[in-house]
Amino acid sequence: MKDELLGQARNLGFSLLGIADPGLFERYPRIRKPAESDKYLQHPHEIWPDCRSVVVLGLHCREEVLDAIVRMDNLWGTFYWEILCHREYRLRDWFRQQGCEAKITNDVSVKRAAVLAGLGHIGRNSLVAHPKYGSNLRFGLLLTDAEMAFDEPNDPLESAPCGDCRRCEDVCPGGAISDYRVDFSRCIIPAAEGRFSNDEQKIREARRIQQRGEVVEVECNLCQKTCPLNEAG
Ligand code: SF4
Ligand code: SF4
Repeated sequence: MKDELLGQARNLGFSLLGIADPGLFERYPRIRKPAESDKYLQHPHEIWPDCRSVVVLGLHCREEVLDAIVRMDNLWGTFYWEILCHREYRLRDWFRQQGCEAKITNDVSVKRAAVLAGLGHIGRNSLVAHPKYGSNLRFGLLLTDAEMAFDEPNDPLESAPCGDCRRCEDVCPGGAISDYRVDFSRCIIPAAEGRFSNDEQKIREARRIQQRGEVVEVECNLCQKTCPLNEAG
């Protein structure tokens, strides 16, 4: 079934696919929800005890449209998330046609899942760095009760080969990056959206940076765009 799944994912335009063991997630410390610092992401078996495989899907992003915003009536979303979601639903339907159940979830860490599916390591910018695409990726995941061979996992506690590079830390306008973590109270994206912070001055500063033309709408992604690990892709 894994070969057929790979073919389906390729036909849908996914750049990467990895299968992680749902039982592995419990061996590592929990990750906080980025948007709600007092809440934690869940392990796959907490969401669905019958989950047998975690399917991690990666979409290679072109930097030119990384910040593009899609608008429809009163709805908006970033370009790549819209594409990713649409394709995830099609793959979920494919699983159901095979007689298996599959669920899309946003409650499991996609970055942890990508590392446990062998798709890269966490870089200093706290993003998953893949050997070919660097961090120019968006990930989605599906939980399924289909049994498939797991890919060789990487260690989530092992960092990407950043060496002496600190470009992402240096470029961050909010000074949000240190020690392989992003402090979301300092990242300008949530600040510009008024999340995490009621600090009007911080929100005004975020909007001022956006208007300089370095970023578009509420996106920034400078920590992603500056990474030399992206260059191989
Ligand atoms: S998105 Fe921008 S502000 Fe947020 S951590 Fe990255 S570089 Fe810093
Ligand atoms: S910009 Fe440099 S320090 Fe940051 S993740 Fe990329 S390689 Fe690592």
